[in-house]
Amino acid sequence: MELAINGGLPASERYLGYGHQDISEEDIRAVVDCLRSDYLTCGPATEAFEEALRGVTGAGFVTAVANGTAALHIACLAAGIKPGDEVIVSPITFAASANCVRYCGATPVFADIDSDTWNISPASIREKVTDRTRAIVAVDFGGVPVAADEIRAICDEFGLVFIEDAAHSLGSARGGVPVGSLADITTLSFHPVKTVTTGEGGAVVTSDPELARMAELYAKHGITRDRGLLRDKDQGGWYYEQLALGYNYRISDIEASLGASQLRRLPEFSARRRELVAFYDERFAEIPEVSFQIDATPEETTRHLYCLKFDTEALGASRRFIFDALKAENIGVNVHYLPVYLLPYYQDLGHRRGECPNAEDYYDHAVTLPLHCGLTDEDAQHVVDAVAKVVEWCRERGRDA
Ligand SMILES: *Cc1c(COP(=O)(O)O)cnc(C)c1O
Repeated sequence: MELAINGGLPASERYLGYGHQDISEEDIRAVVDCLRSDYLTCGPATEAFEEALRGVTGAGFVTAVANGTAALHIACLAAGIKPGDEVIVSPITFAASANCVRYCGATPVFADIDSDTWNISPASIREKVTDRTRAIVAVDFGGVPVAADEIRAICDEFGLVFIEDAAHSLGSARGGVPVGSLADITTLSFHPVKTVTTGEGGAVVTSDPELARMAELYAKHGITRDRGLLRDKDQGGWYYEQLALGYNYRISDIEASLGASQLRRLPEFSARRRELVAFYDERFAEIPEVSFQIDATPEETTRHLYCLKFDTEALGASRRFIFDALKAENIGVNVHYLPVYLLPYYQDLGHRRGECPNAEDYYDHAVTLPLHCGLTDEDAQHVVDAVAKVVEWCRERGRDA
């Protein structure tokens, strides 16, 4: 079959984006109700959203914030990260997972990924621990939770704070323990491509009361009325104190209303994403030139991303060609992610290729395929057809050569 990139018919008639929000009429009503209410911020909708997030994550304390990046910044501040400290970070992630360390004036140290799960490797973390290490930012890549038991053991041994960047993994669990209750402090993002959206939004989640107090403080200007924190406890009801240099990282009630409504649909979102992943895994297992993320307990995972590694050497084709060919088939491919330390800002800090070989090998071969609740079974079949078509074309050309 002629590839669309060479003038053939595309595998999918309509363009299938890699991610897309799913907004129901009920979601819309929730936002409109908020707009008609007395509070657009700091009101009951934010409290209700935080309460619902406590339910889903099993955590004792939740502070909803402006976005996932703010959540990471607050988590690092709450963990006491300061200049001179080192924080071990996953390299295959969005830049924000490392930037939050830089916001605190500290140094991100990149540990390599596991070549099967594509999550940060506990063995590599061990190699990177120094006497300056204070915390680990572990990213649940694609929604698959990190090896929390092993990371917990390393944190206990060296006295580190376990920060889980769960921007991808809301709704996932391990051994029945939901994301949000696996680490010391967990951050969420509600960007529209994530499983649950508020437009822009995020949350800091913890069951540690001290971390929770600090998170709440830093997210709200460093200002508090919390009697337990006030230095002068002998003042009237108007009184507040600023105890630290915090930020205005509040979420609005408009966003929180959408979030609470979306959260009610999380079981539906999780089930559909699981179904699509199972379908992809089954089909792609039949194509030896591609490999997918290994997840030991997919029934506990709510996947955010579906990425494939192409054996470009066996196919005799570059990742760039495969990417362009799939795009021409109307498949909204993407690449998640360039190793963070190869971004020019981090190269300027002295990072170089060669630092995390598994991460680089992953990046050099990876293509992200569409995964979201707006995909029909037929759409998913078209995605599989497009991959099979491109692989077949490469094989045939190899035979001709
Ligand atoms: C999306 C994302 C973030 C940042 O979230 P925003 O809400 O866009 O600020 C952080 N980490 C990871 C892994 C993400 O995918």
